[in-house]
Amino acid sequence: MKPGRETLDKITQILRDRQKALLEEVRNEFDQRDNQHLIELMGREPGDSGDVSLADALADLNILRADRQIHELRDIDGAFARMKAGEFGLCTECGEHIPAQRLLAYPTAKRCMACQQRHERLFVQEGKPKL
Ligand SMILES: [Zn+2]
Repeated sequence: MKPGRETLDKITQILRDRQKALLEEVRNEFDQRDNQHLIELMGREPGDSGDVSLADALADLNILRADRQIHELRDIDGAFARMKAGEFGLCTECGEHIPAQRLLAYPTAKRCMACQQRHERLFVQEGKPKL
């Protein structure tokens, strides 16, 4: 079943909170030297659909210690992009609706449980994902 408005609002809130927390972590990792670019990025509204995604901009800054955060920020960007496209909550593999319960627990989920498990099995066998 398609996630309802209320569920989507809740998930948007979860994603924004997570995004904010991640940016805070990045800011803490980064010793706030006078990097105007970073300060500008931090001042942007979470979920803002600028032409450059926050994750990409942060990656450009080459904050190596923030790799994990950048990876997760990309997932969050992806979730917002799918919301905008009206595809949020649809499994990218089989096109079925991902249960709201799974989305609430794991808002950046791209696959339903069955496809995720299959994907992970393939992932383990191949060692590395092919992009
Ligand atoms: Zn699926």
